[in-house]
Amino acid sequence: MHKKLFIPGPVDVREDVLEKMSTPMIGHRTKDASALQRSISEKMRKVMYTDNEILLSTSSGSGLMEGAVRSCTRKRAAVFSVGAFGDRWYKMAVTNGVPADKFTSEPGKPTTPEMVDKVLSTGKYDLITITHNETSTGIMNPVEEIAEVMRKYPEVVYCLDTVSSMGGTKIEVDRLGVDICITSTQKCLGLPPGMAICSISQKAVEAAKQVEFRGVYFDLLELYNYIQKKDYQYPSTPSLSHMFALDYQLDRILEEGLENRFARHLEMAKYVREWAKEYFDLFPEEKYASNTLTVIKNTRNINVAELNKKLGECGYMISNGYGDLKELTFRIAHMGDIGLDGIKELLSTINSILKLN
Ligand SMILES: *Cc1c(COP(=O)(O)O)cnc(C)c1O
Repeated sequence: MHKKLFIPGPVDVREDVLEKMSTPMIGHRTKDASALQRSISEKMRKVMYTDNEILLSTSSGSGLMEGAVRSCTRKRAAVFSVGAFGDRWYKMAVTNGVPADKFTSEPGKPTTPEMVDKVLSTGKYDLITITHNETSTGIMNPVEEIAEVMRKYPEVVYCLDTVSSMGGTKIEVDRLGVDICITSTQKCLGLPPGMAICSISQKAVEAAKQVEFRGVYFDLLELYNYIQKKDYQYPSTPSLSHMFALDYQLDRILEEGLENRFARHLEMAKYVREWAKEYFDLFPEEKYASNTLTVIKNTRNINVAELNKKLGECGYMISNGYGDLKELTFRIAHMGDIGLDGIKELLSTINSILKLN
């Protein structure tokens, strides 16, 4: 039996989108391949609210995260972490020999604009990374306020991880001044895992030109140059299957309407938060609670693995807590193409398993 996925990626994929994955192959050096990548880029610019160039990577989102910090840090990177994915970005910098420092918030607390300002005022850093939506703690960082601070530091390259939020909530890349905004297919965009997408500003491109050791596969400058010189092609062989499906799914997303899509995610988030507060508690401070997944404090000390096993028998799957939070929290994702009805079904099933009410 297929379990309906309420985990923070991969999400359930619509049948018609899955079918597009089996489109017959085309040559990746053809005009058709260029047209496909150009079409994806035009639609992604709308989803991201940007005029910047769009890069595709046949990898999951982590590939472009690693590529961004390695390709564009000239001096030193300031990595702001509110959980596991911020920590991972720091590890990527260190293991690539990129000088970096990590600034960690208390568990459940956001990266604040004050923190960013204080760190950047030292003048030591020329690149920062921020996690927009931290999937391990359910925090959505205050990127509007952080954008205000970033206006004071026009020379710093601003990288934003929107892997678990792009397509589920409004992120206006250009207005926020984000130089490299990264996402991947298997979360709010509602596609199978295997492709990452980012926007890249001219400032980030110029920064990369000054970095000598950018590697090959995740060299953002190489990806960018190839698009310019080869008319929207990819340096190696991309997952054309993902590209067919992505191009198609982006039409579905734009047809739904971005504002409608964001409103649907928010409606689901509010419903899950209310449920969480009634029976458990929210892990993050509510003001910073994510619109695409809810991390719930396990105040009843339920056995999360047991709950998930029983949910599995009913055809659903949720997530335990991430890392150290494994049994202390559990996570319900509300991202992609599910709707409020699906969420209501899930929560009433949980209520009957746990004999709540
Ligand atoms: C899932 C996730 C990642 C990792 O993305 P992959 O596509 O699995 O490599 C990075 N950051 C956040 C916030 C995520 O939720």
